[in-house]
Amino acid sequence: MNQSQFDFDFLVIGGGSGGVRAARFAAQTGAKVGVAEATKLGGTCVNVGCVPKKLYSHAATYAEYFEEARGFGWTIGSIPQFDWDTLKKNRAAEISRLNELYRSLLDQANVQILNGWASFIDPHTIDVSGQRFTAENILIATGGRPWIPPIPGSELGVTSDSMFDLPTFPRRLLVVGGGYIGCEFASIFSALGADVVQVQRHDRLIPAFDEDLSNFLAQEMRKSGIDIRFNTTALRLERSTGGIRAHLDNSQAIEVDVVLFATGRLPATRDLGLEKAGVMNDRNGAVAVDAQYKSNVPSVFAVGDVSSRQHLTPIALAEAMVVVDSLFRDKQRVMDYSHIPTAIFTHPNVGTVGLTEAQARERFGDVAVYRTDFRPLKHTLSGSSARTLMKLVVDRASDKVVGVHMVGDEAGEIIQGFAVALRAGATKQLFDTTVGIHPTGAEEFVSMRQPVV
Ligand code: FAD
Repeated sequence: MNQSQFDFDFLVIGGGSGGVRAARFAAQTGAKVGVAEATKLGGTCVNVGCVPKKLYSHAATYAEYFEEARGFGWTIGSIPQFDWDTLKKNRAAEISRLNELYRSLLDQANVQILNGWASFIDPHTIDVSGQRFTAENILIATGGRPWIPPIPGSELGVTSDSMFDLPTFPRRLLVVGGGYIGCEFASIFSALGADVVQVQRHDRLIPAFDEDLSNFLAQEMRKSGIDIRFNTTALRLERSTGGIRAHLDNSQAIEVDVVLFATGRLPATRDLGLEKAGVMNDRNGAVAVDAQYKSNVPSVFAVGDVSSRQHLTPIALAEAMVVVDSLFRDKQRVMDYSHIPTAIFTHPNVGTVGLTEAQARERFGDVAVYRTDFRPLKHTLSGSSARTLMKLVVDRASDKVVGVHMVGDEAGEIIQGFAVALRAGATKQLFDTTVGIHPTGAEEFVSMRQPVV
């Protein structure tokens, strides 16, 4: 087949973060592009991920503000009331606006939107709800889906997909899982008024992160009232008169209204017909791709959560641009996965970039660690006992700062700038000679002089 025999130059399966980015930018080069989407445009991030999660995190922040305002002289007339239905309604309206925005961006770029479930017929053909389309190149950007452990009664639990639209606000919530999604929901629902128990089968939260961050986060989350139980998991769920009874593996049982399984996500490759196109998975079930996101089949690419790298929206976007550059702009390049900053929107936030202390020790051997843990100025009057943690990890041989970690207000906002500094190879000396902004919490990052290790 030559190019003119295909319906499209580029056909994208999945209208989420990676798919929409790839489709739009490919179409802007003049390519004929289609994107197949089974549900709503915007994918996980817009519909059931980053965006609604951050909006709900803002909702939770107000609960803290009301509490803390008194110390600053405010009298809150009557006790502030939280209305779950109003939050859900306003969130849904905003998400619908974003769905439409994505649609108009694709329309403006002349991308044809194919509504329906897509699956491969062969390496150049996909079926979208009974209609066949051919394309010179096909991008799989189908994202991931939550995984629920196969325990008895697991069908009584929900995943993050359902949490934003729970019919009633859960007064008692069990979160199974101590990864970032579990921690965020535990934090948000606790601040909004739920009694939250969080079970984590490991001995710390967010195990992929720096250990100091994990420990500090657990301490702060516990202070805010979350009952975190380590080395514990749910073995069985059953319906009880008052809700759901969860049997834990320490012979305890608790009764809750909602059980959230935040127990990991799998690449969304089910019912995609990958075998018909001859596309291979790696051992995690993700589409196996090379550094340019090409699968073992030359006309098939994959980006975002459906492949095996870090599962973050900006990663899906950046990978999509590598594919567009290589296919439509004649620019071959490889994505740099070092120094990827990330935030967790717990209360308080976590922000991090670079290596954990353990990773730095493994890579460099001799590292210096600078750490400070303090009460933010605001909380001298607010009455809150919340503290902030900041940590720098430095390779002693080169003096380069290789890790910047924080737990505290606006950690995500603060760490973004430090990600640029780390990518630029900033040394500790450069941090030391940088003037701080006073009075801020962030100035501590340029004021730490004595290593603790
Ligand atoms: P997605 O955005 O998931 O898009 C995949 C799309 O493909 C979906 O719309 C789906 O309907 C469609 N699809 C799937 N199969 C088919 C098919 N066969 N045919 C047609 N369409 C199909 N990342 C961050 O960076 N920051 C955050 O704060 C953050 N918070 C998160 C919170 C939660 C609760 C979750 C679950 C995720 C969060 N993420 C966050 C991760 C982020 O959402 C994902 O990394 C990102 O959405 C991945 O983009 P993607 O393009 O790979 O897939």
